Amino acid sequence: TFLEYAPAPESRAILSLRDEYGLFIDGQFRPGTGESFATISPADESHIATVAAASEADIDQAVAAARRAHDKVWAKMRGRDRGKYLFRIARLVQERARELAVAESLDNGKPIKESRDVDVPLVAAWFFYYAGWADKLDFAGLGANPRSLGVAAQVIPWNFPLLMLAWKVAPALAAGNTVVIKPAETTPLTALIFAEILQQADLPAGVVNIVTGAGSTGAAMVRHPDVNKVAFTGSTPVGREIAKAVAGTDKKLTLELGGKAANIIFEDAPIEQAIDGIVTGIFFNQGQVCCAGSRLIVQESIHDEVVERLKRRLSTLRMGDPLDKNTDIGAINSLEQLNRVRELSQIGEEEGAQRWSANCVIPEKGFWFAPTIFTNVQASHRIARDEIFGPVLSVLTFRTPAEAIAKANNTPYGLSAGIWSDKGSRILAVADKLRAGVIWANTFNRFDPASPFGGYKESGYGREGGRQGLLAYLKGAA
Ligand code: NAD
Repeated sequence: TFLEYAPAPESRAILSLRDEYGLFIDGQFRPGTGESFATISPADESHIATVAAASEADIDQAVAAARRAHDKVWAKMRGRDRGKYLFRIARLVQERARELAVAESLDNGKPIKESRDVDVPLVAAWFFYYAGWADKLDFAGLGANPRSLGVAAQVIPWNFPLLMLAWKVAPALAAGNTVVIKPAETTPLTALIFAEILQQADLPAGVVNIVTGAGSTGAAMVRHPDVNKVAFTGSTPVGREIAKAVAGTDKKLTLELGGKAANIIFEDAPIEQAIDGIVTGIFFNQGQVCCAGSRLIVQESIHDEVVERLKRRLSTLRMGDPLDKNTDIGAINSLEQLNRVRELSQIGEEEGAQRWSANCVIPEKGFWFAPTIFTNVQASHRIARDEIFGPVLSVLTFRTPAEAIAKANNTPYGLSAGIWSDKGSRILAVADKLRAGVIWANTFNRFDPASPFGGYKESGYGREGGRQGLLAYLKGAA
């Protein structure tokens, strides 16, 4: 099996991990007072490190440190000086890029070519981009006197652990806020290495506090009375809980939640590119992507050809060791997530959709699921409605553009969508009628720090990225 491979150059050996990680509060690692927990590799279930869990008392300390740092140092500092720290962090991320990529793949299960070529470069890009905003706050037409909100509590998921941290931390800091951030319980590792980067960058103590723990730790952060802003990325049910906890307070809230994106393929689409786009759309990061193109809505006339080509392509993908540079499909992040993917796929079969799975060798240990396509999917099927968050594509068909639009919008979510056609006018006309925050044309899953990202409907509210992403951390700005 892949576990017997000689260690690749991108191996665990380049990491110098601690056996135990504390909480990063006020510029220092310190033990947590909650019960610590293990983080494991989803590829082989091996132990990586023991991580502290923050109790309510620890959260008090973290918020107090963030408040002091905000009032005494960070909000008073000139924007251009804050920018220097952000540039320094971006460069340190680049310097330690290989290490961060290996740690991310080890802890999350994603292929190293994704963490190395996508996640970590985007992390650096996000810090560079917001570093460039920090010194322009007063004179860039953001309003008369844009000021920071104060202390931000930020809670993030496990699918892009370090990238989601960058999306949250970079704009908050550029705008003069301080932060208490919690990574997901299954992927704390890169956030803890990032804490070391903050020490290397000499970031003033308390500006960023990193607390590990489960959902209860996140809940304690969200309800803390001295928090001014809550930013959450995760599932829609937890987003709802958080909206309730924040209701009636003067905390500002942004929510980035789930999705069930439509990837619409017209018969005049550039077919080779479309196949690439469908494959990256749903199989990138094993489909554990909020904006994954999980519903393929394909014109009836080209359905058979598209499905045949997809099957051929998927049969060539290599599933296995996330640290192997040739791996295309890595592990599912946790047993809990694997069980969810299995359960919904089982329901798909029971409801009458036709299942095809790539013929992959499934390693004995770890959490694996072969790339899967469902055809004959009806709009009422659970696999057409629920977010599976795994490598499973549901294929639906349409005859007319109006039908494609109706099917694409037939979801409680509205995060993203893709449109593939040779005609620009058709793309624009369809895009205009889709209720989704991000729409890609003849491409999919493209990200840029200058481009705002966020949802409609049950995919949440507020935007991250770009100027809007900065405004979400300012008052007196427009
Ligand atoms: P999740 O909602 O279970 O957990 C997300 C984070 O919230 C974790 O850190 C968790 O510990 C914490 N949490 C859990 N309960 C909490 C509570 N009551 N109060 C405060 N914090 C709490 O989601 P997940 O399983 O980690 O992530 C998968 C989900 O995230 C998917 O639905 C996916 O679509 C969504 N997601 C959305 C985006 C986006 O930008 N819209 C990006 C990535 C993931």
